[in-house]
Amino acid sequence: MIADVIVDINHSNVDKVFEYLNPDNIPVGSRIYVPFGRQFIEGYIVGQKQTPIYDISKLKPISRPLDEIPVISPEMLELMQFMTKKYNIKMVDALRLFIPAQMRGGRIKALKKNFVRIRDGLTESTVFDLINPRAKSQIELAEYLLSCEQDMESAYINTHFSPSALKSLEQKGIVEIISKEIKRTPYKGLEAENEVFSLKPEQLTAYQKIKNSQDRPFLLHGVTGSGKTEIYIRCINDCINQEKTAILLVPEISLTPQVFALFKSRFGTDVAILHSGLSIGERYDEWRRIIEGEASIVIGARSAIFAPLQNIGIIIIDEEHDPSYISESNPRYFTHEIAEFRRGYNKANMILGSATPSIESYYKAKNNELELIEMPNRINQRPLPRINIIDMTQEIRRGNNSFFSYELIDQMKKVVSEGDQIILFLNRRGYASYQMCRSCGYVVKCPDCDVSMVYHRDENILKCHYCSSRSHVLNLCPQCESEYIKQGAYGTQRVVEELKKIFPDVTILRMDNDTTRTKDAHLKILKDFSERKAQILIGTQMVTKGHDFSDVTLVGILDADLSLYFSDYHSCERTFQLITQVSGRAGRDEKEGLVVLQTYSPKHYVYKLAQNYNYLGFYEKEANIRKVTNYPPFSVIIRILACSESEENAIAVLKDIFDEIKPIAEQDKEDFLYMKAMKSPIKRIKKKYRVQILMRLSTIGVDKNLDDIYNVINKNNNKKDVLVYSELNPQDLS
Ligand code: ADP
Ligand code: ZN
Ligand code: ZN
Repeated sequence: MIADVIVDINHSNVDKVFEYLNPDNIPVGSRIYVPFGRQFIEGYIVGQKQTPIYDISKLKPISRPLDEIPVISPEMLELMQFMTKKYNIKMVDALRLFIPAQMRGGRIKALKKNFVRIRDGLTESTVFDLINPRAKSQIELAEYLLSCEQDMESAYINTHFSPSALKSLEQKGIVEIISKEIKRTPYKGLEAENEVFSLKPEQLTAYQKIKNSQDRPFLLHGVTGSGKTEIYIRCINDCINQEKTAILLVPEISLTPQVFALFKSRFGTDVAILHSGLSIGERYDEWRRIIEGEASIVIGARSAIFAPLQNIGIIIIDEEHDPSYISESNPRYFTHEIAEFRRGYNKANMILGSATPSIESYYKAKNNELELIEMPNRINQRPLPRINIIDMTQEIRRGNNSFFSYELIDQMKKVVSEGDQIILFLNRRGYASYQMCRSCGYVVKCPDCDVSMVYHRDENILKCHYCSSRSHVLNLCPQCESEYIKQGAYGTQRVVEELKKIFPDVTILRMDNDTTRTKDAHLKILKDFSERKAQILIGTQMVTKGHDFSDVTLVGILDADLSLYFSDYHSCERTFQLITQVSGRAGRDEKEGLVVLQTYSPKHYVYKLAQNYNYLGFYEKEANIRKVTNYPPFSVIIRILACSESEENAIAVLKDIFDEIKPIAEQDKEDFLYMKAMKSPIKRIKKKYRVQILMRLSTIGVDKNLDDIYNVINKNNNKKDVLVYSELNPQDLS
């Protein structure tokens, strides 16, 4: 057989497939050493065939496999093909996702330790026959080892017994020293209550539905605190009982030690954890525990969807609406699509869970592509907290220029005096991006796209990221002529300083990117807050997710508009999701909760609908706008980006691409809803000029034309030193 081999996946940006002889029939998917020029390098077998393209007499044989088992399964090789076709990425890009960086090039080694044991086949009497009765320390050690039920670490023996006795026993052939691999386990000392509830009726109905059908994936729409996690646990448990495996994906920032503790307490060492907070050694070992079949449940953030599990029984994507499920840097992919591929391959079950499903997913549920399960009530029928909307333009008129409205200050004082706790949320998305009038709430929007214009400091101009329109910066409000123009956001630290002036005696915890740099900082802040070492927790998105603090009775949303006016067609959706999430932190136990939401646009429909927890109303309104403006899920946005140090060359190559796509578009006018070439909103990044084509195609149009569009791109890529990328439904259009 002839093997197709990809080499040097760490550095290569092109798919060079080399042919090698494979006389030992090393299986496809194996990591191998191959001769390459004068040296030997690492490669992966990605395919095989009978007859080579090149002259067989010139092919060299593979040197040897590097692992005992193939590291890429047939499923993953198929997934690689799926991804290269769908996202127009390279095979090497996909492989880099599948094989942890630590493993490639053998940069991390397995951790090995020496162990001592009595040789097999020796009985107690033969052992003592071999030892001189006067050698006390040898007898002592032999007695100890005979009493042990497992092999003992050499380091332990050497510190607790005489090292020379050990040496003598080894020389006499009584004990042997063997080297064994130790797997590094993350979060060793975690503990959680192993509480097993009987399911509430709503949970039971949902669980049985999932258990008894698997023709379609499920969309589990359950309000915050409706008990979705317990359903996940039951479903995973069923899979394990059927000797199948499971993947649970959680957004990176809600992947807290509490979540691990909960699952470890239920499933023990069956659980492997994959996320960026692990040390590289831990990651490597967790990955190998999975591929070697030691762990059958994988919990992790986005990239855990590539876990090397076999025979998957269920894939769960919790908080499925979270933007972190979209990979925005090369290789770009959408986790849901990868999950859907693996579901199909493994004939597995799948649950997308959320209190606020993405418009895309709910639309699929409406079209019967997903099976919808609703859980509209919290466990124990706790009410969702009341949301008070505060008009910040009024505050300005009343002379209050601070971060906090009078209402929020009053409520905080009340909660502090009652001894309860407060969470303050400061959104950081959209930082410094838009301009707004603080007196009347006016925001500059693109007349064609209904998204906010983005402020570009370098050119001192406002731009729409979805079309090429531009606008002057605001000095005076065109609506009310006020000079109070607000530019972007303030930081958590400044808010803390102001808060300290109002509450000098109250302990305040801050949780944001600055305070959670070290590995366990996040855990410590949450622990301190749950142990009531502080009364106020203030932070960014990190405070919105999944925490269960029973004494939190007040949630303050300091500047809700920050995500609303982000220059993205998802802005309203994200805002609705964030408000619902963070509000879900209040009043989870006996005491009733209250949310104070501060905004300059109090009449915006997002706030009205969020205030009533009216997800369905929100969905309908939002879906309607997307339909009218031709945005996803009613279309697919395609961006083609050409980058080069020479602006002239970038423009020339982009123009060639545009001219070749034009006739395709003209043949299919109905499906090409929008197409335009322009400079990118940020014209130059890292010395490279950026120009782009933005298109919107109907979903049918994408199926029909994507291959042709990719062909045009690939034909023109790398010409004149211009790199060309394509993106489907990109989130960030800068
Ligand atoms: P969600 O993920 O839907 O927001 P959780 O799964 O966090 O909700 O559940 C909310 C709370 O209810 C948790 O504290 C959980 O321990 C508790 N809970 C879940 N199911 C039950 C049950 N059947 N009986 C009692 N308590 C439950
Ligand atoms: Zn104004
Ligand atoms: Zn526009």
